[in-house]
Amino acid sequence: MKVLVLNCGSSSLKYQLFDMEKESVLGKGLVERIGIEGSLLKHSPAQGDKVTKERDIPNHKVAVQLVLEALLSKEHGVLESLEELTAVGHRVVHGGEDFTASVIINDEVMKAIDKCCAFAPLHNPANLTGIRAMKEILPEIPQVAVFDTAFHQTAPNYAYMYGVPYEYYSEYGMRRYGFHGTSHRYVADRAAVMLGKKPEELNIVTCHLGNGSSIAAVKHGKSVDTSMGFTPLPGILMGTRCGDVDCSLVLQVMQDQKIAPEDMAQILNKKSGVQGISGISSDLRDVEDGAAQGDPRAKLALDMLCYGIRKYIGSYAAAMNGVDAVVFTAGIGENSALIREMVCKELGFLGAVFDKDKNRVRGEEAIISTESSKVALMIVPTNEELVIARDTRELVS
Ligand code: ADP
Repeated sequence: MKVLVLNCGSSSLKYQLFDMEKESVLGKGLVERIGIEGSLLKHSPAQGDKVTKERDIPNHKVAVQLVLEALLSKEHGVLESLEELTAVGHRVVHGGEDFTASVIINDEVMKAIDKCCAFAPLHNPANLTGIRAMKEILPEIPQVAVFDTAFHQTAPNYAYMYGVPYEYYSEYGMRRYGFHGTSHRYVADRAAVMLGKKPEELNIVTCHLGNGSSIAAVKHGKSVDTSMGFTPLPGILMGTRCGDVDCSLVLQVMQDQKIAPEDMAQILNKKSGVQGISGISSDLRDVEDGAAQGDPRAKLALDMLCYGIRKYIGSYAAAMNGVDAVVFTAGIGENSALIREMVCKELGFLGAVFDKDKNRVRGEEAIISTESSKVALMIVPTNEELVIARDTRELVS
C-alpha cells in the first residue's frame, strides 16, 4: 500500500510518499512560495539525486499537480502510475472538540474543519485548500485528516478550562486545545517500546522543543494536560512566541502604547520568545553561540527556556502523581545536548539521574539517564508523517 502524506501551509506544501509494507519513504519534497514570486518544488527520491523545479505556482491545486508530476516523473519519479496510490493523509492543525481521532474526509468533515478555521486562521484554511485541491485532482482516492489537537482531547475538564466566565467556553469554545498532538503521541508510544513497557503502565512527560514548543503529560498512554492552549502561544519560551505571560501585561501595553490587537498578536507571536529576549535570533544554535561568547541576554534566554521546561516537568509529575519517563524531541530536543543537560541535571528531586556521556548524541533514540535512575530520561526523534501514514492506512484498510 502506498500513502501520500501532505502538510499544507499557507504558502508551502510538504509531502512524503510511504510504502506501507515496509513503512519506508519512497520520496519526499517541498513546494515553497505558493502564490508568491519565485515559487519552486524540491523533490528528493529515496534513491537518486534531489531535483529543484522553478515554476509559476499560483495556488495549491497547481502545487498538488506538480507534486504528482514529480512522483510520476520518468527521471526522478517513484510511482509508475497514480493507481498505485491508495490514500492521502493530511495534517490538519485544529479539529476543535469534534475530532478526538483521525477520520476519513467527507463533506461533513470538511465543514467541521472549516468551522475550526476561526481557531487556527493561519493553518486550517491552508490545510483545507490542500484537501480540496487533492479532491479535485483525484476525487476517487480516500483522504484522511490527522489533527494536531486530537491527542489532547482526553484531558479532563479541570485541566482544559480557563478561569474566565463559563460562557466563553460554552458559547465560543474557548478552552485549552493543545497542539503537536501527533508528535506527543508518537514519542510517548516509542518511549514505551524502548522501555519494554505498555503505554498503560507509564506516566510520561513529552517535551516537543522546536521553533514552536509544547510539553505534554501523557498518563497511561493518554494526554491529560499540555502547555499550549487555546492557541499555540502559551507554554514555554519559543523561537519567536512568548509562552506564558500575565494577560494584564498585554492589556496594559495595548492600552498605554495604543497597540491594535492584530499588531499585539504580531509582537507576541513573531517578536517575542528567544528572539525577543536574546535580541540575537530565534534559532537556538545562534543563541547558544551567543551565550558561549558571554552575551548576557543570550544566556538569559537559555536560562528562561530551561527553567520553564523544568517547571512544566515538575508540574506534570504532580498532575500525573508521578513520572516514569521524560522524553525530548523535535529540533532542539533531539539536537541540543546543552539544553537537555541544563534541564536534566536539576531533576534530582524526581529521582532522575542524568548521564552526561550518554547525552552526547544527536537525532537518535537514546536513554540519557543512568541505569539506577528512577525516571528514564530519553531522546526520541519525532516522526509525525509516519503517524499520519499509519492512521491513513488503518482507516482505509
Ligand atoms: P519546527 O517547529 O519549525 O518544526 P524544528 O523542530 O525543526 O522546528 O526545530 C527548530 C529548532 O531546533 C531551531 O531553534 C534550531 O535552532 C534548533 N536546532 C536544530 N539543531 C540544533 C542543534 N544542533 N543545537 C541546538 N538547536 C538546534
